Amino acid sequence: MQDRHALITGAGSGIGAAIALQLAQAGCRLTLCGRSQERLQRQAEALRAQVPHLAVRIAPMDVSDMASVQAAVQQAHASLGAVNILVNNAGQAHSQPFAKTDATLWHQMLNVNLTGTYHCIQAVLPGMLEAASVPGGGTPGRIVNIASTAGLKGYAYVSAYVAAKHGVVGLTKALALELARKGVTVNALCPGYTDTDIVQEAVHNISAKTGKSETEARQALATRNPQQRLVQPHEVARSVLWLCAAGSDAINGQAIAIDGGEMVA
Ligand code: NAP
Repeated sequence: MQDRHALITGAGSGIGAAIALQLAQAGCRLTLCGRSQERLQRQAEALRAQVPHLAVRIAPMDVSDMASVQAAVQQAHASLGAVNILVNNAGQAHSQPFAKTDATLWHQMLNVNLTGTYHCIQAVLPGMLEAASVPGGGTPGRIVNIASTAGLKGYAYVSAYVAAKHGVVGLTKALALELARKGVTVNALCPGYTDTDIVQEAVHNISAKTGKSETEARQALATRNPQQRLVQPHEVARSVLWLCAAGSDAINGQAIAIDGGEMVA
């Protein structure tokens, strides 16, 4: 995958950091995006230490702000060329009962998780399509949206997040059809509870609201997974690599659960 430039949002932590490592080890050039420049810088340094000769840049952006996304993508394009792999991973998952889901929370969840995905695709797609359409052998384009099992089914107390992630799955399916003959595939990965800061925040909230210890709260989330464990970030990252690697061109418009079987229980 030496000829590919991958742009990953939310690359400074959790699942995004694991995806960055996986794609770096596969030989991609990388642009790491997120709001915190310091976090991205740390991540870039960690990757350089693990993967010799890695071309990695940071391009801070707030995915909910189109101007910020456009500026970061232009910067990425100027320094490492057209983006061939876009991983829309940035996300937030704040919980509230629906009655307390005010307009601010509602719009924040939709803006970051769904509109943020739209912004990044809008900014990256023209260059990706151009690179894919070079006569005699373009570079295939890949868009991988990190949705959630919350994009496939409901969970109580996270209605705005669930609505946003269902939107991401819908966008994935529609765009996959639109781009099907243009050398770009669009797929969604739908992790179940995964061992990152987002889950740590959920554990903290459950513990505060129910009086359970954090260990019990964590166990309660792990119990949703038939394998009785949290998914690990590198397991999601491996699936991103698989979707981006040669031989995956026919996988298009899918929303693939990575959840130990939760969706079929
Ligand atoms: P995480 O460690 O909190 O990662 C979220 C990342 O998104 C952070 O690096 C954060 O960086 C970035 N981000 C948040 N708001 C942003 C914004 N407005 N603009 C740009 N970047 C932003 O949690 P994670 O679990 O790895 O989450 C990654 C993705 O997986 C999310 O889309 C999440 O919904 C999805 N997911 C997670 C789970 C789970 O159980 N952990 C399950 C299913 C799906 P900055 O704060 O620096 O911006």
